[in-house]
Amino acid sequence: MHSVCAMKSIAFVIDLPKRHDHPLTYFPRQTSLICNVCGLLRKLYPTYVCVTCNFVAHNDCMYFPSIIKISRHRHRIAYKSSLRSGEWLCGVCRQNIEIHYGAYSCDKCCDYVVHSICALGKDVCDREDFEGVPEEDDIALGVESFYVISEGVILHFLHDHHLYLKVSILYDENKFCQACVLPIFQGTIYSCINCDFILHETCAKFGRKLQHALHPHPLTLRHVNPYEYVGFTCDACDRYCGGFIYGCHLKECDFDLDIRCASISEPVDYQGHKHPLYLALNPEEKPGSSKYRVISET
Ligand SMILES: [Zn+2]
Ligand SMILES: [Zn+2]
Ligand SMILES: [Zn+2]
Ligand SMILES: [Zn+2]
Ligand SMILES: [Zn+2]
Ligand SMILES: [Zn+2]
Ligand SMILES: [Zn+2]
Ligand SMILES: [Zn+2]
Repeated sequence: MHSVCAMKSIAFVIDLPKRHDHPLTYFPRQTSLICNVCGLLRKLYPTYVCVTCNFVAHNDCMYFPSIIKISRHRHRIAYKSSLRSGEWLCGVCRQNIEIHYGAYSCDKCCDYVVHSICALGKDVCDREDFEGVPEEDDIALGVESFYVISEGVILHFLHDHHLYLKVSILYDENKFCQACVLPIFQGTIYSCINCDFILHETCAKFGRKLQHALHPHPLTLRHVNPYEYVGFTCDACDRYCGGFIYGCHLKECDFDLDIRCASISEPVDYQGHKHPLYLALNPEEKPGSSKYRVISET
């Protein structure tokens, strides 16, 4: 043992009926065992085994939350120690899931499953356990950003005056949409008659809240005036910009997306590539590249 490890006290037997039916015994030689919960082989992690069932789990994997909310799916997903036989693709990394290892699955959609470690990734989940918490709390999404005053007239919650639907025919280089900060070309816009506030019709339709694949919590819409030079840096594209922003500043979060990045959802149909595109888990870590990930035993 490392001297540091020798000084740490490690329970020899642990009993967590929620994760496994039998008490588990500490297994001192760890380098060759794949954990049944996370499906990974990790060196130097305290590992426990059940000899009766040939079950292996890392110490910290046994405390994985049971029911979680992830950014990539609209329902909560629940931990399962194994999956029904069949071909399963992870909803996050799109790689195969080996059925004998733990995974999270959706009880509402019969085919949505995620590797345990993909489900618990930093951008995907904050690891809060929703076991026993009623699900209605999640549905504050889908609230519209404007009230319809009359046909073609709206009141947007981020502007004090009424906005009128118009068709823009001329390109004016001084006119920008206040949401996406892109120029106004031909097309339908909402414009204010009291001031120069303009929105593309499509930009006016962004809801007050958004669940985005890049953040575990719902994001809230706000307006940063680009003319006051108090812009912000988008956490997805790293551009400094203004306009409408979806952000999360709950708990320890400090996360902001500009409207352009916020409007991207998976999968992306990019005309330069023949297959649909999905978000990478971590830009530095390519999906499925982990040396020890069990993708398939065959
Ligand atoms: Zn594990
Ligand atoms: Zn057992
Ligand atoms: Zn995965
Ligand atoms: Zn679902
Ligand atoms: Zn716009
Ligand atoms: Zn106005
Ligand atoms: Zn961006
Ligand atoms: Zn957050």
